[in-house]
Amino acid sequence: MRIDIITCLPRLLDSPFSDSILKRAQQKGLVTVGVHDLREYANNKHRTTDDYAFGGGAGMVMMIEPIDNCITKLKSERTYDEIIYMSPDGEMLTQPVANELSLKKNLILLCGHYKGVDERVREHLITREISIGNYVLSGGELAAAVVADAVIRLLPGVLNDETSALTDSFQDGLVAPPVYTRPAEYKGWRVPEVLLSGHEAKIAQWKYEKSLERTKKRRPDILKGI
Ligand code: SAH
Repeated sequence: MRIDIITCLPRLLDSPFSDSILKRAQQKGLVTVGVHDLREYANNKHRTTDDYAFGGGAGMVMMIEPIDNCITKLKSERTYDEIIYMSPDGEMLTQPVANELSLKKNLILLCGHYKGVDERVREHLITREISIGNYVLSGGELAAAVVADAVIRLLPGVLNDETSALTDSFQDGLVAPPVYTRPAEYKGWRVPEVLLSGHEAKIAQWKYEKSLERTKKRRPDILKGI
């Protein structure tokens, strides 16, 4: 899989991909993440990528031309399944959306900044809009990193334990059960006995019951889907 991220602040995307699981996924060749600096696609003297809003109002608007130049160049190199604009009023990122995106081959994630992008970008250049939540960030970079992380960890071979992503919260309409590790007792607080029993069927049943109990208590909204 390939994910190309278009941004006017590329340095914001340095660290999310240079550690741990996302770093290993790239080293193993399971994903290529390309970060593209919009300024390099600005044909004006000062390489500016934003301008004042027509009609006035506070805040700068990202210009269409550098974005179009960048998307056109990327599209000349390969075919993209989706060109996604990160936007607070977009489709909400959920586990099913991440699952769906993880089956794609090439994705572009476009990060806005300031007041956002010229509306004509949204009308003509992109195929989809995704929000990571009902709040406003100062830029799309962190949101793009969230989408990329949620998608990349689902790619076969990225997680060491192949079944791990399947047992995470939301995959089966339930949140994950509690987890414990050594020591079995700490300050008198004991790990549930069943987990130490070695009895696989009983452990599986316990995990399911805990998941169900937790979902009912914390997230009854997702339980309705079952
Ligand atoms: N004026 C816009 C907000 C712009 S915030 C509005 O009110 O809708 C600047 C940029 O941050 C956006 O262009 C978008 O790319 C990104 N962004 C902000 N909040 C986001 C969210 N919840 N999900 C995804 N991207 C977001």
